[in-house]
Amino acid sequence: MDPLVDGWGRRIESVRISVTDKCNFRCTYCMPAEGLEWLRRDEILSFEEITRLARILAALGVGEVRLTGGEPLVRRDVPALVGMLAEIPGIDDLSLTTNGILLRRYAQSLVDAGLRRINVSLDSLDHVRFAEITRRDALDQVLEGLAEAERFPELRPIKVNCVAIKNFTEPEVPALAALARRKPYVVRFIEFMPLDADRAWSADQVLTGAEIRALVEAEHGPLVELPAKASSTAQRYAFADGAGELGFVNPVSEPFCSTCDRIRITADGQLRTCLFSRREWDVKSVLRNGSDDAQIAAFLRHAVRHKELKHRVNEPGFVPASRSMSQIGG
Ligand code: SAM
Ligand code: SF4
Repeated sequence: MDPLVDGWGRRIESVRISVTDKCNFRCTYCMPAEGLEWLRRDEILSFEEITRLARILAALGVGEVRLTGGEPLVRRDVPALVGMLAEIPGIDDLSLTTNGILLRRYAQSLVDAGLRRINVSLDSLDHVRFAEITRRDALDQVLEGLAEAERFPELRPIKVNCVAIKNFTEPEVPALAALARRKPYVVRFIEFMPLDADRAWSADQVLTGAEIRALVEAEHGPLVELPAKASSTAQRYAFADGAGELGFVNPVSEPFCSTCDRIRITADGQLRTCLFSRREWDVKSVLRNGSDDAQIAAFLRHAVRHKELKHRVNEPGFVPASRSMSQIGG
Protein backbone atom coordinates (compact mmCIF):
# COMPACT_ATOMS: atom_id res chain seq x y z
CA MET A 1 0.00 0.00 0.00
CA ASP A 2 1.22 3.53 -0.70
CA PRO A 3 2.72 5.16 2.38
CA LEU A 4 0.94 7.95 4.22
CA VAL A 5 2.35 11.25 2.99
CA ASP A 6 1.25 14.75 3.89
CA GLY A 7 0.72 17.68 1.55
CA TRP A 8 4.30 18.84 2.07
CA GLY A 9 5.85 15.47 1.18
CA ARG A 10 6.56 14.29 4.73
CA ARG A 11 5.94 10.60 5.41
CA ILE A 12 3.84 9.89 8.47
CA GLU A 13 5.31 7.00 10.43
CA SER A 14 4.40 7.70 14.03
CA VAL A 15 1.14 8.02 15.96
CA ARG A 16 0.51 9.05 19.55
CA ILE A 17 -2.70 7.61 20.83
CA SER A 18 -4.32 9.06 23.92
CA VAL A 19 -6.27 6.46 25.88
CA THR A 20 -7.82 8.81 28.42
CA ASP A 21 -8.15 12.51 29.17
CA LYS A 22 -8.11 11.81 32.93
CA CYS A 23 -5.05 12.16 35.12
CA ASN A 24 -4.12 11.65 38.74
CA PHE A 25 -1.67 14.61 38.65
CA ARG A 26 -2.39 18.26 37.97
CA CYS A 27 0.90 19.51 36.52
CA THR A 28 0.77 23.29 36.36
CA TYR A 29 2.09 23.36 32.76
CA CYS A 30 -0.64 20.99 31.59
CA MET A 31 -3.86 20.88 33.62
CA PRO A 32 -5.83 23.31 35.75
CA ALA A 33 -5.89 22.69 39.52
CA GLU A 34 -9.54 21.74 39.16
CA GLY A 35 -12.50 22.20 36.89
CA LEU A 36 -11.76 20.14 33.78
CA GLU A 37 -14.74 18.21 32.49
CA TRP A 38 -14.02 14.56 31.65
CA LEU A 39 -15.12 12.83 28.51
CA ARG A 40 -17.99 10.37 28.91
CA ARG A 41 -17.20 6.66 28.66
CA ASP A 42 -19.04 6.29 25.33
CA GLU A 43 -17.09 9.20 23.85
CA ILE A 44 -13.79 7.40 24.34
CA LEU A 45 -12.47 4.94 21.77
CA SER A 46 -12.70 1.32 22.90
CA PHE A 47 -9.61 -0.90 22.84
CA GLU A 48 -11.09 -2.64 19.79
CA GLU A 49 -11.51 0.67 17.97
CA ILE A 50 -7.97 1.77 18.86
CA THR A 51 -6.59 -1.58 17.69
CA ARG A 52 -8.48 -1.44 14.41
CA LEU A 53 -7.25 2.09 13.76
CA ALA A 54 -3.67 1.12 14.65
CA ARG A 55 -3.86 -1.86 12.29
CA ILE A 56 -5.02 0.35 9.42
CA LEU A 57 -2.30 2.90 10.21
CA ALA A 58 0.35 0.16 10.42
CA ALA A 59 -0.65 -1.04 6.96
CA LEU A 60 -0.03 2.56 5.77
CA GLY A 61 3.50 2.45 7.19
CA VAL A 62 2.91 3.91 10.64
CA GLY A 63 5.15 1.58 12.61
CA GLU A 64 5.64 3.66 15.74
CA VAL A 65 2.84 3.79 18.30
CA ARG A 66 3.06 5.63 21.58
CA LEU A 67 0.26 5.40 24.15
CA THR A 68 -0.33 8.52 26.18
CA GLY A 69 -3.02 10.60 27.85
CA GLY A 70 -3.97 12.16 30.31
CA GLU A 71 -2.37 9.47 32.39
CA PRO A 72 -2.63 6.25 30.38
CA LEU A 73 -2.27 3.97 33.40
CA VAL A 74 -5.45 5.30 35.02
CA ARG A 75 -7.45 3.64 32.27
CA ARG A 76 -8.42 0.15 33.31
CA ASP A 77 -6.54 -2.73 31.64
CA VAL A 78 -4.09 -0.72 29.56
CA PRO A 79 -1.71 -3.73 29.50
CA ALA A 80 -4.45 -5.60 27.61
CA LEU A 81 -4.43 -2.84 24.98
CA VAL A 82 -0.63 -3.07 24.78
CA GLY A 83 -1.01 -6.80 24.14
CA MET A 84 -3.52 -6.17 21.35
CA LEU A 85 -1.26 -3.59 19.68
CA ALA A 86 1.91 -5.67 20.08
CA GLU A 87 0.38 -8.34 17.85
CA ILE A 88 -0.19 -6.03 14.90
CA PRO A 89 2.20 -6.73 12.01
CA GLY A 90 4.08 -3.58 11.09
CA ILE A 91 4.11 -2.02 14.55
CA ASP A 92 7.75 -2.30 15.44
CA ASP A 93 8.00 0.41 18.08
CA LEU A 94 5.41 0.39 20.86
CA SER A 95 5.93 2.73 23.79
CA LEU A 96 4.05 4.48 26.57
CA THR A 97 4.37 7.85 28.26
CA THR A 98 3.40 7.96 31.92
CA ASN A 99 3.75 10.14 34.98
CA GLY A 100 5.03 6.99 36.71
CA ILE A 101 2.84 6.97 39.80
CA LEU A 102 1.23 3.64 38.88
CA LEU A 103 4.27 2.17 37.16
CA ARG A 104 5.39 0.05 40.05
CA ARG A 105 2.07 -1.77 39.91
CA TYR A 106 1.92 -2.15 36.12
CA ALA A 107 5.50 -2.49 34.82
CA GLN A 108 5.51 -6.29 34.88
CA SER A 109 2.18 -6.66 33.06
CA LEU A 110 3.14 -4.00 30.52
CA VAL A 111 6.36 -5.82 29.70
CA ASP A 112 4.56 -9.16 29.61
CA ALA A 113 2.09 -7.65 27.15
CA GLY A 114 4.90 -6.55 24.83
CA LEU A 115 5.83 -3.00 25.82
CA ARG A 116 9.48 -2.37 24.90
CA ARG A 117 10.03 1.32 25.62
CA ILE A 118 8.80 3.76 28.23
CA ASN A 119 8.88 7.50 28.92
CA VAL A 120 8.40 8.71 32.47
CA SER A 121 7.80 12.36 33.31
CA LEU A 122 9.83 13.77 36.18
CA ASP A 123 10.37 17.48 36.70
CA SER A 124 12.11 17.59 40.07
CA LEU A 125 13.98 15.30 42.43
CA ASP A 126 13.00 17.44 45.41
CA HIS A 127 9.80 16.43 47.19
CA VAL A 128 8.52 19.94 47.80
CA ARG A 129 9.26 21.19 44.31
CA PHE A 130 7.86 18.00 42.76
CA ALA A 131 4.61 18.61 44.63
CA GLU A 132 4.64 22.26 43.62
CA ILE A 133 4.79 21.46 39.91
CA THR A 134 2.57 18.34 39.80
CA ARG A 135 0.25 19.45 42.63
CA ARG A 136 0.69 15.91 44.05
CA ASP A 137 3.12 14.64 46.68
CA ALA A 138 4.17 11.57 44.74
CA LEU A 139 7.91 11.75 44.04
CA ASP A 140 8.66 8.54 45.94
CA GLN A 141 6.06 6.54 44.01
CA VAL A 142 7.45 7.81 40.69
CA LEU A 143 10.99 6.85 41.68
CA GLU A 144 9.74 3.43 42.77
CA GLY A 145 8.00 3.09 39.40
CA LEU A 146 11.23 3.91 37.60
CA ALA A 147 13.13 1.42 39.74
CA GLU A 148 10.57 -1.24 38.86
CA ALA A 149 10.86 -0.45 35.13
CA GLU A 150 14.62 -0.75 35.45
CA ARG A 151 14.24 -4.37 36.59
CA PHE A 152 13.22 -5.31 33.02
CA PRO A 153 16.16 -5.18 30.61
CA GLU A 154 13.77 -5.64 27.70
CA LEU A 155 12.22 -2.25 28.54
CA ARG A 156 14.82 0.08 27.06
CA PRO A 157 15.47 2.89 26.68
CA ILE A 158 13.84 4.30 29.78
CA LYS A 159 13.43 7.99 29.06
CA VAL A 160 12.82 10.53 31.80
CA ASN A 161 11.11 13.68 30.53
CA CYS A 162 11.38 17.02 32.28
CA VAL A 163 9.43 20.07 31.10
CA ALA A 164 11.90 22.95 31.28
CA ILE A 165 10.48 26.15 32.73
CA LYS A 166 12.44 29.34 33.27
CA ASN A 167 13.01 30.19 36.93
CA PHE A 168 11.85 26.74 38.02
CA THR A 169 13.96 24.11 36.30
CA GLU A 170 17.46 25.64 36.55
CA PRO A 171 18.14 24.32 40.09
CA GLU A 172 16.87 20.88 39.06
CA VAL A 173 19.39 20.47 36.26
CA PRO A 174 22.39 19.21 38.30
CA ALA A 175 20.35 16.48 40.04
CA LEU A 176 18.65 15.41 36.80
CA ALA A 177 22.00 15.30 34.98
CA ALA A 178 23.40 13.22 37.85
CA LEU A 179 20.40 10.88 37.53
CA ALA A 180 21.26 10.33 33.86
CA ARG A 181 24.81 9.42 34.87
CA ARG A 182 23.84 7.18 37.77
CA LYS A 183 20.92 5.31 36.20
CA PRO A 184 20.13 3.70 32.84
CA TYR A 185 17.76 6.59 32.10
CA VAL A 186 18.02 8.99 29.19
CA VAL A 187 17.06 12.31 30.77
CA ARG A 188 15.38 14.66 28.32
CA PHE A 189 14.50 18.31 28.77
CA ILE A 190 11.43 19.45 26.86
CA GLU A 191 10.78 23.13 26.28
CA PHE A 192 7.57 24.42 27.84
CA MET A 193 4.96 24.85 25.10
CA PRO A 194 1.75 26.91 25.08
CA LEU A 195 -0.47 23.91 25.80
CA ASP A 196 -1.24 24.55 29.47
CA ALA A 197 -4.92 24.63 30.41
CA ASP A 198 -4.37 27.76 32.50
CA ARG A 199 -3.14 29.61 29.40
CA ALA A 200 -0.36 31.10 31.52
CA TRP A 201 2.43 30.27 29.04
CA SER A 202 4.57 33.13 27.83
CA ALA A 203 7.73 33.03 25.72
CA ASP A 204 9.86 34.28 28.60
CA GLN A 205 8.96 31.17 30.62
CA VAL A 206 10.68 28.89 28.13
CA LEU A 207 14.02 27.58 29.38
CA THR A 208 15.70 26.56 26.15
CA GLY A 209 17.67 23.41 25.49
CA ALA A 210 20.73 25.54 24.74
CA GLU A 211 20.45 27.21 28.15
CA ILE A 212 20.22 23.88 29.94
CA ARG A 213 23.08 22.44 27.95
CA ALA A 214 25.21 25.40 29.01
CA LEU A 215 24.31 24.73 32.66
CA VAL A 216 25.30 21.06 32.32
CA GLU A 217 28.50 21.88 30.45
CA ALA A 218 29.53 24.41 33.08
CA GLU A 219 29.63 21.52 35.54
CA HIS A 220 30.64 18.56 33.39
CA GLY A 221 32.53 20.04 30.46
CA PRO A 222 31.50 19.78 26.80
CA LEU A 223 28.86 17.21 25.90
CA VAL A 224 29.30 15.07 22.81
CA GLU A 225 26.50 15.08 20.25
CA LEU A 226 25.18 11.63 19.31
CA PRO A 227 23.50 10.73 16.03
CA ALA A 228 19.69 10.85 16.08
CA LYS A 229 17.02 9.70 13.63
CA ALA A 230 16.05 12.46 11.18
CA SER A 231 12.49 12.47 12.52
CA SER A 232 13.63 12.45 16.15
CA THR A 233 12.28 15.27 18.31
CA ALA A 234 15.36 15.17 20.53
CA GLN A 235 18.95 16.19 20.07
CA ARG A 236 21.02 13.56 21.87
CA TYR A 237 24.17 14.21 23.87
CA ALA A 238 26.55 12.02 25.85
CA PHE A 239 28.80 13.07 28.70
CA ALA A 240 32.41 13.15 27.52
CA ASP A 241 33.39 10.16 29.69
CA GLY A 242 30.58 8.09 28.16
CA ALA A 243 28.53 7.73 31.35
CA GLY A 244 25.03 9.00 30.74
CA GLU A 245 22.90 10.47 27.97
CA LEU A 246 20.83 13.65 27.84
CA GLY A 247 18.24 14.72 25.28
CA PHE A 248 16.97 18.17 24.39
CA VAL A 249 13.57 18.59 22.80
CA ASN A 250 13.43 22.19 21.62
CA PRO A 251 10.13 22.72 19.80
CA VAL A 252 10.03 26.44 20.66
CA SER A 253 13.62 27.60 20.19
CA GLU A 254 14.53 25.18 17.37
CA PRO A 255 11.33 23.88 15.76
CA PHE A 256 11.67 20.52 14.02
CA CYS A 257 8.44 20.69 12.01
CA SER A 258 10.20 20.10 8.68
CA THR A 259 11.00 16.51 9.71
CA CYS A 260 7.79 15.85 11.65
CA ASP A 261 6.41 12.37 10.97
CA ARG A 262 3.70 12.37 13.64
CA ILE A 263 -0.05 12.45 14.01
CA ARG A 264 -2.14 12.19 17.16
CA ILE A 265 -5.40 10.53 18.09
CA THR A 266 -7.22 12.02 21.06
CA ALA A 267 -9.00 9.81 23.59
CA ASP A 268 -12.31 10.77 21.94
CA GLY A 269 -11.11 9.67 18.55
CA GLN A 270 -10.15 12.95 16.90
CA LEU A 271 -7.15 12.94 14.63
CA ARG A 272 -4.82 15.91 15.08
CA THR A 273 -2.10 16.48 12.53
CA CYS A 274 -0.20 18.86 14.83
CA LEU A 275 -0.06 19.53 18.58
CA PHE A 276 -1.14 23.06 17.71
CA SER A 277 -3.87 22.15 15.21
CA ARG A 278 -6.94 24.35 15.19
CA ARG A 279 -8.80 21.60 13.36
CA GLU A 280 -9.52 17.97 14.23
CA TRP A 281 -10.63 15.08 12.03
CA ASP A 282 -13.43 12.94 13.42
CA VAL A 283 -12.02 9.42 13.00
CA LYS A 284 -14.32 8.10 15.70
CA SER A 285 -17.40 8.77 13.57
CA VAL A 286 -15.80 7.01 10.63
CA LEU A 287 -14.91 4.05 12.86
CA ARG A 288 -18.49 3.91 14.11
CA ASN A 289 -20.49 4.51 10.92
CA GLY A 290 -19.93 1.18 9.26
CA SER A 291 -17.04 2.28 7.04
CA ASP A 292 -14.74 -0.52 5.90
CA ASP A 293 -10.96 -0.42 6.38
CA ALA A 294 -10.34 1.00 2.91
CA GLN A 295 -12.74 3.88 3.58
CA ILE A 296 -11.07 4.59 6.90
CA ALA A 297 -7.65 4.53 5.23
CA ALA A 298 -8.92 7.01 2.62
CA PHE A 299 -10.19 9.26 5.40
CA LEU A 300 -6.79 9.12 7.14
CA ARG A 301 -5.00 9.95 3.90
CA HIS A 302 -7.28 12.91 3.31
CA ALA A 303 -6.72 14.27 6.82
CA VAL A 304 -2.97 13.79 6.65
CA ARG A 305 -2.78 15.69 3.37
CA HIS A 306 -3.91 18.73 5.36
CA LYS A 307 -1.14 18.49 7.95
CA GLU A 308 0.17 21.90 8.92
CA LEU A 309 3.52 22.93 7.47
CA LYS A 310 4.72 24.10 10.88
CA HIS A 311 3.57 25.44 14.22
CA ARG A 312 3.40 29.18 14.64
CA VAL A 313 4.26 29.51 18.31
CA ASN A 314 6.92 32.10 17.60
CA GLU A 315 4.85 34.17 15.20
CA PRO A 316 2.83 37.25 16.04
CA GLY A 317 -0.86 36.47 16.38
CA PHE A 318 -0.26 32.82 17.39
CA VAL A 319 -3.54 31.29 18.54
CA PRO A 320 -3.23 28.45 21.06
CA ALA A 321 -4.81 25.07 20.28
CA SER A 322 -8.42 24.58 21.28
CA ARG A 323 -7.46 21.89 23.81
CA SER A 324 -4.71 21.59 26.38
CA MET A 325 -1.98 18.95 26.54
CA SER A 326 -3.79 16.40 28.73
CA GLN A 327 -6.81 16.52 26.40
CA ILE A 328 -4.71 16.12 23.26
CA GLY A 329 -2.17 13.52 24.35
CA GLY A 330 1.43 14.61 24.57
N1 SAM B 1 0.54 11.81 31.93
C1 SAM B 1 1.62 11.30 31.16
C2 SAM B 1 2.91 12.03 31.49
O1 SAM B 1 2.85 13.06 32.13
O2 SAM B 1 3.95 11.52 31.08
C3 SAM B 1 1.39 11.32 29.67
C4 SAM B 1 0.70 12.53 29.10
S1 SAM B 1 1.60 14.05 29.22
C5 SAM B 1 0.46 15.18 28.48
C6 SAM B 1 2.87 13.79 27.99
C7 SAM B 1 4.07 14.67 28.08
O3 SAM B 1 3.68 16.00 27.79
C8 SAM B 1 4.74 14.70 29.42
O4 SAM B 1 6.11 14.40 29.27
C9 SAM B 1 4.54 16.11 29.88
O5 SAM B 1 5.58 16.52 30.70
C10 SAM B 1 4.46 16.85 28.58
N2 SAM B 1 3.81 18.16 28.67
C11 SAM B 1 2.61 18.44 29.24
N3 SAM B 1 2.33 19.75 29.11
C12 SAM B 1 3.37 20.32 28.45
C13 SAM B 1 3.67 21.65 28.01
N4 SAM B 1 2.82 22.65 28.24
N5 SAM B 1 4.84 21.86 27.36
C14 SAM B 1 5.69 20.83 27.13
N6 SAM B 1 5.46 19.55 27.50
C15 SAM B 1 4.32 19.30 28.16
FE1 SF4 C 1 -1.16 14.54 33.97
FE2 SF4 C 1 0.89 14.11 32.33
FE3 SF4 C 1 -0.52 16.41 32.22
FE4 SF4 C 1 1.03 15.98 34.32
S1 SF4 C 1 1.71 16.17 32.17
S2 SF4 C 1 -1.11 16.70 34.38
S3 SF4 C 1 0.87 13.80 34.57
S4 SF4 C 1 -1.27 14.40 31.73
